[in-house]
Amino acid sequence: MTSRTLPVRNPRTGELDYKIQAAGAEEIAATAQRLRAAQRDWAALPLTERGAFLLRLADALVKHRTAITAALEIDTGRRRIAGLELDGAVAALRGWVAQAPGLLPSGWTQGRAMPHIRHAPQFVPYALTGVISPWNFPLTLSMIDTIPALLAGSAVIIKPSEVTPRFAAPLMAAIAEAGLEDILTLIDGDGATGAPLIEAVDVICFTGSVATGRKVAAAAAAKMIPAFLELGGKDPLIVTATANLEHATDAALRGSVLSTGQACQSIERIYVAADIHDAFLKRLTEKAAATRLNWPDITTGELGPIIFDKQAAILADQIDDAKAKGARVLTGGEIETHGGGLWLKPTVLTNVSHQMKLMTEETFGPLLPVMPYTTTEEVIAFANNTEYGLSAAVFAGTLEEAEAIAIQIDAGAVSLNDAALTGLFHEAEKHSFKLSGLGGSRMGPAGFQRFLRRKALIANTGAPAPLSAFAEDAQ
Ligand code: NAD
Repeated sequence: MTSRTLPVRNPRTGELDYKIQAAGAEEIAATAQRLRAAQRDWAALPLTERGAFLLRLADALVKHRTAITAALEIDTGRRRIAGLELDGAVAALRGWVAQAPGLLPSGWTQGRAMPHIRHAPQFVPYALTGVISPWNFPLTLSMIDTIPALLAGSAVIIKPSEVTPRFAAPLMAAIAEAGLEDILTLIDGDGATGAPLIEAVDVICFTGSVATGRKVAAAAAAKMIPAFLELGGKDPLIVTATANLEHATDAALRGSVLSTGQACQSIERIYVAADIHDAFLKRLTEKAAATRLNWPDITTGELGPIIFDKQAAILADQIDDAKAKGARVLTGGEIETHGGGLWLKPTVLTNVSHQMKLMTEETFGPLLPVMPYTTTEEVIAFANNTEYGLSAAVFAGTLEEAEAIAIQIDAGAVSLNDAALTGLFHEAEKHSFKLSGLGGSRMGPAGFQRFLRRKALIANTGAPAPLSAFAEDAQ
């Protein structure tokens, strides 16, 4: 595959005002070779010394903040989240460096069944990790697996989404300043760049859609390397009759609409106890109607543009499908064009059913379909009737009531008395259930440990058993 030029669209103007050069297979192979050569020394460093490099990277991100956030701002059409992504990457670097040394057992353990045998664990990193990230949080989702992989002793090649690649150049400047350019690098490219990247690495971390995740998993299986996949979701929020209405509507709106709904763990369907359904719907609609676009002034408003223009057609189709099947739009509902960019205000829908696409297919936009329920059994069945299992949320008058429902939901994380907490809080281990992912927890201690292969040293402190001990006529 030879190098190709790919245009990049600015989501606030609609203009193709940037381009990237997709890396060819030869370039990827050469990059992999260069990183593999440096990785041996990297892995040989004590963990604390690798940590010191990552702290230098954190400082370099702070120093290059303006350039990195400016690039993120252009590609995503929003300013505040660009800054939060940068802050989050710095905090993640510092947090992992502080936490990692306590996460690995060491030393010899005496065998239980065979006391003369002792064993000690060794932890061997994958030499080269590939990271393929999506466009919705370009920096966060490029760094989230990269940091623990580096700390574990792996070298890393990141391929950002071709939709949001501008941050790669200023991030590379920060990486070079931290002295990490032979251990961590970025390559540009699109889907076709994925195959040679997977071919070049020893483990692949992928965040993106289920359709692409299947291809990544198949390519990884053909090469017999692990694939850590974080994919789509259709997260439900359950609001019980005892919930605090103000808190529940705040959480529902933020959980559905933050990042214009372009978040994997966004709330995508809202089930409300029939007793409070009308009051909830009224208050949610008022709050949704009061939100503002960040157009024309990027320094105000809560809603950025639709980052990936093709996503707008999916949102419009889901709204049309719902309306055709009897749903009513209470606020929002129209894709708006401003200055060449595409926008959608929070769209609250009622009279929805599970025959509508917006209740079953991933939306990835600011749609809030609200449905009443009558019994706990019914709503748990609604929540679990999905092929996804990323996360969910339960709002109730007490944590005990919320917990009793949460433990019955078939998803890898459940937010209690809030929504979409996994997007804000990364310390708790979680798997992604069903179609939402594969490969263990990217968060919490396991998010570091999964980049280290276990190797056992097993020592005999006595005499080795002779073959005769296994003879058929041995006593
Ligand atoms: P996508 O699957 O289209 O693309 C993701 C990345 O994969 C991009 O970098 C793309 O260039 C690359 N790619 C495309 N084809 C490839 C191939 N054949 N081989 C290897 N790489 C390939 O996803 P997207 O549209 O960028 O992102 C939106 C999706 O990501 C949504 O489904 C969302 O739910 C999901 N997502 C999941 C999480 C999570 O943590 N679970 C987080 C954010 C987004």
